[in-house]
Amino acid sequence: MAVNGSLVAAPEAREACGVFGIYGPGEDVSRLTYFGLFALQHRGQESAGIAVSDGRDITVYREMGLVSQVFDETTLSRLRGDLAIGHTRYSTTGSTSLANAQPMVAEWRGGKIALSHNGNLVNTAALRRELESQGEVFEATSDSEVMLRMVAREADRAGSVEEAVAACMPRWRGAYSLAILTEDSVMAVRDPYGVRPLCIGRLNSEAVVFASESCALTLIGSEFLREVEPGELVMADQDGMRSRAVVSSPREALCVFEYIYLARPDSKIGDHLVHEARSGLGQQLAVDQPVEGDVVIPVPDTGWPAAIGYAERSGLPFGEGLIRNRYVPRTFIQPDQRLRELGVKIKLNPLREALAGRRIVMVDDSIVRGTTKKGIIRMIRNAGAKEVHVRISAPPIRWPCYYGVDTSNRSELIAARRSTVEEVREDIGADSLGYQSVPGMLKGLRIPRRKLCLACFTGRYPIPIPKDVKLSKLDLEESAWREGEEKPKTSAPAPSPTETPG
Ligand code: AMP
Ligand code: SF4
Repeated sequence: MAVNGSLVAAPEAREACGVFGIYGPGEDVSRLTYFGLFALQHRGQESAGIAVSDGRDITVYREMGLVSQVFDETTLSRLRGDLAIGHTRYSTTGSTSLANAQPMVAEWRGGKIALSHNGNLVNTAALRRELESQGEVFEATSDSEVMLRMVAREADRAGSVEEAVAACMPRWRGAYSLAILTEDSVMAVRDPYGVRPLCIGRLNSEAVVFASESCALTLIGSEFLREVEPGELVMADQDGMRSRAVVSSPREALCVFEYIYLARPDSKIGDHLVHEARSGLGQQLAVDQPVEGDVVIPVPDTGWPAAIGYAERSGLPFGEGLIRNRYVPRTFIQPDQRLRELGVKIKLNPLREALAGRRIVMVDDSIVRGTTKKGIIRMIRNAGAKEVHVRISAPPIRWPCYYGVDTSNRSELIAARRSTVEEVREDIGADSLGYQSVPGMLKGLRIPRRKLCLACFTGRYPIPIPKDVKLSKLDLEESAWREGEEKPKTSAPAPSPTETPG
């Protein structure tokens, strides 16, 4: 779900939320949804919500905060029913508001509809204008509300929510993985490019479960059945589970960042265990970006699998040099730059004994703004390290994301602000810096390029983005940008030796 600052502003991608749904007559669906959301907490820590249906009416409870803060025995006990959906929302500055928390609920002539959304539409502004011209008044400022209102209006016309969703899907452009609840059914919907993950599980032979990631299925003891296909609408109700292919697309475009950073390592996406994908990236990085050092250390937690892969392939010893306070959410979530910087210290502590006097090879998944990296490198040096060599399992992030991940505006991306990798190295204060190349990333992942979105690395956006929306995040010498161009004639960093753009 993404949030607009004003009615006509272009949508800003803010989050990579987690969605969950269950059709489970006789099951404690609200508690199962609670546990499912708990497993998806890494996808969003701003707000959490559950909508449940008892067959006659839908009740929703949503609040700002972590899943464990939002729900307790009292709130859960009020959410009684046989079907439920849930949501965890990720957000940063500017979009923090309970009105934007999910699931959102709307009414149609046949009852209520609740919706949980992960992703971001790129044509929200146009859709919203159209609805407003028809008299629709919005409560929140998100693309998810636009989607929900569209479904409700269409349901009034079509007489069924399922038909309404199918009618709306071709009109939604962008990334959407949805869980939708009516009084008597739960639906899972994925955009035709399959940008965000969504999978299906089975619990106790009858219950059908939908979740952003398979780790949520595993936690509640359900069996992984398959992924929701791109462009597919899967419906679970008293007649069982059925599916229809609603929209097709020229290609798949699963977000490669799910493998690099977003998803949990114990989730399986597109038949690949995320942990293996990350350690494959680390292995490839060791081949393409070798360095002499005494010990390979991960930046906890997301850098762990890549560091393991790097150490394995390089033959260098692996060690822990940074200890993480597990009770602090991801630093990126902090609302402003000052708190983000402080966040590094709150989150990580150096293990002096492992670092002092040694040449450290520090492996992490990605560099976005570079703020965290800078703080960590300073911390490692202060702990007595002789050298700090940074190896990054993703290529330089030079382009913003419009499909639901907060990788910032272009002017905030350190690899877009600096002309060369050398300049980035200097900025973050490392002795050497080696990024993964785009071909190296694909080789490490063992996934064909045609199945993935790589746009934040290449600038090639698989789903066309309206020009005003595109410009809203290209505040870095944006005048040089032209539609269809892969690179502006500005300061993109020189590709690393093995890298070929695109
Ligand atoms: P920095 O060094 O300040 O650029 O921070 C990069 C780190 O933030 C990465 O190593 C990731 O662990 C994390 N990260 C990367 N992308 C995101 C994102 N979209 N949202 C939150 N955290 C992110
Ligand atoms: Fe993922 Fe990057 Fe594509 Fe956004 S632009 S969907 S973060 S690969």
